[in-house]
Amino acid sequence: MKLKLDIKSNAIDSFNESLAKYEQGEAGDLRAFKFAISHLSHCIELVLKMYLQTLDENLVFAKCHKEVVKRAKSENINLLEAYNLLEGEDFDFKKVIKDHNNPYTVTVDQALSVAKCETCGITGSKFVDQDFIDDIQWMKDLRNSIEHYQFEFTAKEVRLCVGRLVRDLAVFTDVFSLFDLEEAVGKDRYHVFAVLIDEYEHDLQEAKLEVAETKAAIFNSTRPKHRMFIEWNEYTCEKCGNDTMIPNADSSTGYRCTLKDCENEESEEIEVDCDICGCPWPNGEMTSWVDTYSYVCPRCDNPEGW
Ligand SMILES: [Zn+2]
Ligand SMILES: [Zn+2]
Repeated sequence: MKLKLDIKSNAIDSFNESLAKYEQGEAGDLRAFKFAISHLSHCIELVLKMYLQTLDENLVFAKCHKEVVKRAKSENINLLEAYNLLEGEDFDFKKVIKDHNNPYTVTVDQALSVAKCETCGITGSKFVDQDFIDDIQWMKDLRNSIEHYQFEFTAKEVRLCVGRLVRDLAVFTDVFSLFDLEEAVGKDRYHVFAVLIDEYEHDLQEAKLEVAETKAAIFNSTRPKHRMFIEWNEYTCEKCGNDTMIPNADSSTGYRCTLKDCENEESEEIEVDCDICGCPWPNGEMTSWVDTYSYVCPRCDNPEGW
């Protein structure tokens, strides 16, 4: 029972630590992302162990896991089915580790290999989807390379992956009734969590960051006296309603929304040059003249009106 409580409170502590470091990383301290990854990875490891304990308290130990693997192999069934079989036969897991003072616990992969077998009783679909497993793998690799000082990641990669993992973790802890992730978040970290847990909010935050980063990159790479010639506009996207339409070299209109899955390129606000006087105007206010000009500004279209 004590082990159970320790695992849960450690998992929650690690999660809150991870959020604190994530916030620092987001504020520009890239080194802090390293610790955000380590803490989150530790939290996930503990949560997976908590899941095993819902089956049998001793299943967190590698030796007990091995018994399940052995049975699965001999019967040619999956690990969960093998566990259920052993459980039905009143297999004594406690006895397996009886003579060991400090038995090894399972690895993340071992814990995942059992959780992976869980399916929804109603729909038959898997509770742990492949994307979650891939993200955990990515994070594990990253943590390993961090420990060996060979890490290479972009801040954006970390931010996106942490967001997905936090959302998956919330589902996982809920599906297996481990604890309420949202309730476990400390008050002073809640604003960080609130963005990560909401996929749209998180994507929007990324889109705004991309606007700021792209702008900074363009201005920083241009010599000060040439900066006045930069054509930088931020438009409101007509599709998603955010102020996230910025210049994009690959776009046919010259602009593209930075919000994931929006990527709209059309806006009546985008300025084009008048075919007659050459002045820029929002394209929505332009008139096209049959067989002559495609874009005529209101001033050239109706000179008397001005
Ligand atoms: Zn948009
Ligand atoms: Zn004109």
